[in-house]
Amino acid sequence: MRLDALFVNGRFTTLDPERPVATRLGVFGERIAGLDEELDGLTADVVVDLRGRHAVPGFNDAHQHLSMRGQRLRELDLRGLSLSELYDAVASAPEGAWIRGAGYDQNKLGGAHPTRQALDRVSGARPVWLQHTSGHMGVANSAAFALMGFPDLDVPDVPGGSVGRDADGVPDGLLAEQAQELAHRLLRPVTQEDFVEGIALASKVAAAEGLTSFTEPGVGVGLAGNGPLDVAGFQEAVRRGLLLQRATLMPGSPNLHEVGPGFGLDLGIGTGLGSTRLRIGPVKVFSDGSLIGRTAAMCCDYAGEPGNRGFLQEEASALREFILRAHAAGWQVATHAIGDLAVDVVLDAYAEAQARHPRPDARHRIEHCAVTSDAQVARIAELGVIPVPQGRFVSELGDGMLAALGPERSRGCYRQRSFLEAGIVLPGSSDCPVVEGAPLLGIHDLVNQRTAGGSSFNPGEALTVSQALRAYTAGSAHAVHEERLKGTLSRGKLADFAVLSDDLLAVPAERIRDVTVVTTVVGGVVVHDL
Ligand SMILES: [Zn+2]
Repeated sequence: MRLDALFVNGRFTTLDPERPVATRLGVFGERIAGLDEELDGLTADVVVDLRGRHAVPGFNDAHQHLSMRGQRLRELDLRGLSLSELYDAVASAPEGAWIRGAGYDQNKLGGAHPTRQALDRVSGARPVWLQHTSGHMGVANSAAFALMGFPDLDVPDVPGGSVGRDADGVPDGLLAEQAQELAHRLLRPVTQEDFVEGIALASKVAAAEGLTSFTEPGVGVGLAGNGPLDVAGFQEAVRRGLLLQRATLMPGSPNLHEVGPGFGLDLGIGTGLGSTRLRIGPVKVFSDGSLIGRTAAMCCDYAGEPGNRGFLQEEASALREFILRAHAAGWQVATHAIGDLAVDVVLDAYAEAQARHPRPDARHRIEHCAVTSDAQVARIAELGVIPVPQGRFVSELGDGMLAALGPERSRGCYRQRSFLEAGIVLPGSSDCPVVEGAPLLGIHDLVNQRTAGGSSFNPGEALTVSQALRAYTAGSAHAVHEERLKGTLSRGKLADFAVLSDDLLAVPAERIRDVTVVTTVVGGVVVHDL
């Protein structure tokens, strides 16, 4: 047999206990044909000398909005700007019908969101929509409200959302959760060409970060998706060779509907259909909102805000009904739940679904699963549910989360070690573009647990580097039933790996973020090379 590719002189950390390290890796038909002495006597079309570099299984982000990341790369980048810099950026925005930006965080602006009135002063007559870094809210100016159908600013309340208002009840520009739909329905979907271009932009950046697989939450119509042809957009990106990673797409819940006697997508398409390049994963459903935006549904009041416990995006009974139907139809279900009240509602629904229609190894997920009690951790493990927390939130959003919860309740925030100790297989994820997507930054934060402001964040939940690496590889594969294909460098698995500047397992913890990705390989093909 002649191999497609042979990578020699590497120092592979395989994460496979049967063969933890290797120096040679052979590829045939996108798969690992063998390691070290298994390759003796074989030749290859391509031989790549890794010059003694360290390599690890390709990073896999269990929750990354790659297409949204791509769209944001086409907008004003508001991250890190002060309010006056933000208004300056809007004032000098490039030509176009709309002025669009994303990435501001009121927690880093002294608690203040941009306002409609201030945006009116700097935007001329152009409509403005600026999205919060969480994606759970945004700010519009008066011209945008006029296009939404409210030239007199007589904006009604929106169920499952909130419309920010001043003391006189006049909109101040802020639209949260479902109220964002007022703006989204003017701005989405972008054209197929723009959608594909965004995927290509983001995919290239992600390849340079060592990403070889990701799961995208909420494609199609709904809060996180672009439009009804999103899957076709991804297919087109694959066809043109512009999507460099392997993608598992989670359709947003509004895309599921009655299909004959069943429930789901047309033709009965459901979880698992597709190829190793592009497949349909769990259905993504929202239960609540954002922790730093203080809209997530909590058991108790937010710190310093008596009476605010956030809210569920729809009635608990409607969410329960949806989960029961999707489960009965064979879907893996991934529910966004941040507040501890929302987590309870979701766990109750998962438990009831399994009681009515037992299905072994369903692996229903809770996206973020941000605030949990010890009892909830135990119940998550007992039900076989997979929590999908984001390590990077600790540094970029940690100060805002500590402020929202207060010191006492912060101990239940973004657990990870507790999940592992309860026997749960933990995935790694970023929720990019909410925060930076680079897996090595995520691993850095999972290990170091420190906020941007310098505060220690739940040090008891810190992972070892090896645990964090396993989460970002094998753990994320497991979260979408792909552990037989990915996550370790073993014979027969996909030849996806990242070559690094240093030995990730040996650098001091505080230097993990300085490690860089030298080469990224997907299916034995180099997709990024410095
Ligand atoms: Zn998300």
